[in-house]
Amino acid sequence: MRQTAARPKTRRTLRPTAVGLVVVAIIGTLVHQPASSPAPSFSEVLRGDHGGTTTEADGALTEADGALPDGVAVFDVQYPGVANLDPELLRALRGAATDAADDGIDFYVNSGWRSPEYQDQLLREAVSEYGSEEEAARWVAPADTSPHVSGDAVDIGRSDATAWLSEHGADYGLCQIYRNEPWHYELRPEAVNHRCPRSYADPTRDPRMQR
Ligand SMILES: [Zn+2]
Repeated sequence: MRQTAARPKTRRTLRPTAVGLVVVAIIGTLVHQPASSPAPSFSEVLRGDHGGTTTEADGALTEADGALPDGVAVFDVQYPGVANLDPELLRALRGAATDAADDGIDFYVNSGWRSPEYQDQLLREAVSEYGSEEEAARWVAPADTSPHVSGDAVDIGRSDATAWLSEHGADYGLCQIYRNEPWHYELRPEAVNHRCPRSYADPTRDPRMQR
C-alpha cells in the first residue's frame, strides 16, 4: 500500500527532496551525527557503513566472501559481492542506476551476494547485538535462507538512492521486500506491470524464512 501512496510523486518533486537529503546529511555530519537508529552500530553493519570492522572481526572474511569496500557501484564486477548477484537482478539494477544518474543520484552497493560464512558471521554479530536469536532474525537471515547468499538481494545506499528506488524501482522490477529494511531490494519482474507485492514487516514474516 505504501508503494501506491508514494506513486503520485513525480521525478520533478524528487530532485529538491534529494537535495534536501544531502543537505541534511551534510549538516548531520558537521553536527556529530546523532544516533538516529535504535540500534545504530548493527544498522551500520547492515548498511555497509562499518569501515571494514565486520570483515576484520574474525580475520577470515575477504572480498571473496562478498565483503565490499565503501563506494562500490552496480557496475563494479571485479567484486564477487556484485559479480555473483543474479544476472537479471544485476541487469535491472544497472538500468535503474543509469536512469537515476540522469537525476544526479548514484547507487552504491553496500552489500550484495554473501558467502554462507559471511552470512553466518553477520548472524552471530546480530545475536550479540540484539541479545537473542529471535530478535536478530528480524534483521539477518540464516545462511540457508538468506536471499543475499543465493545472490537474489542487494542492499543499496545511500538515502537518496533508496528514495529514488522507492519511487521508480517497480518500473525495473526492483522491490523493497521488508518494511524495516528500506535499503534491501530484490527482483520481482511482475512489478513492472503490476507494481511491487506487499512488503513484509520484517524478515520473520517472510514465508521463505520458515523452515
Ligand atoms: Zn539485504
